[in-house]
Amino acid sequence: MSTDSSTEKQMDIPTKEVLISSSDINQRVQQLGREISEDYQGRELHLVGVLNGAFVFLADLVRQIDIPCQICFLQASSYKNQKVSTGEVTLMHNLDLSRKDVLVVEDIFDTGLTLKYIMEDLEQQKPKSLEACALLNKQIPDKVPIAVKYIGFNIEDRFVVGYGLDFAEHYREIPHIACLD
Ligand code: 5GP
Repeated sequence: MSTDSSTEKQMDIPTKEVLISSSDINQRVQQLGREISEDYQGRELHLVGVLNGAFVFLADLVRQIDIPCQICFLQASSYKNQKVSTGEVTLMHNLDLSRKDVLVVEDIFDTGLTLKYIMEDLEQQKPKSLEACALLNKQIPDKVPIAVKYIGFNIEDRFVVGYGLDFAEHYREIPHIACLD
């Protein structure tokens, strides 16, 4: 029986280095949820998940937040199946966030181009407050200088997959963060 290349990709996951285990992720997501709940006490929080990569993180995070929330998504794409950014960001949404407390939830803050683009776009809607939360912060030189209030983990400059993050739409389902390079 022959295996196609996508099946082979899935089968090679156990050989990839685990950078962050699922129990470490769970623990950190709990802490972030507590911190966010305290900071937004008495307010209703609008969480904006950045598709596709943040869907797992947002789903776990929201269940650790104990204040009223509304959840919505926007779609951002910049990688187009490559491991390095094309530098072009495309956004799709029909959100109305005026006068809302908004927290953008992103999978990874790499160069920061995507988040900068998103924050500038949403700022035009005049939210009451606008902050960002990223599960991972890649430590690279020359990042776009934007403030990301909540960060899960600082990581070195490696290409990571799992916990929602993909390479060419593969690996999103694995429960930990693994290195592909
Ligand atoms: P930035 O605009 O900050 O350079 O890149 C942000 C987006 O690029 C992230 O939302 C994510 O989709 C993608 N990205 C950046 N680094 C990685 C990585 O190591 N792995 C994966 N799977 N995606 C990444």
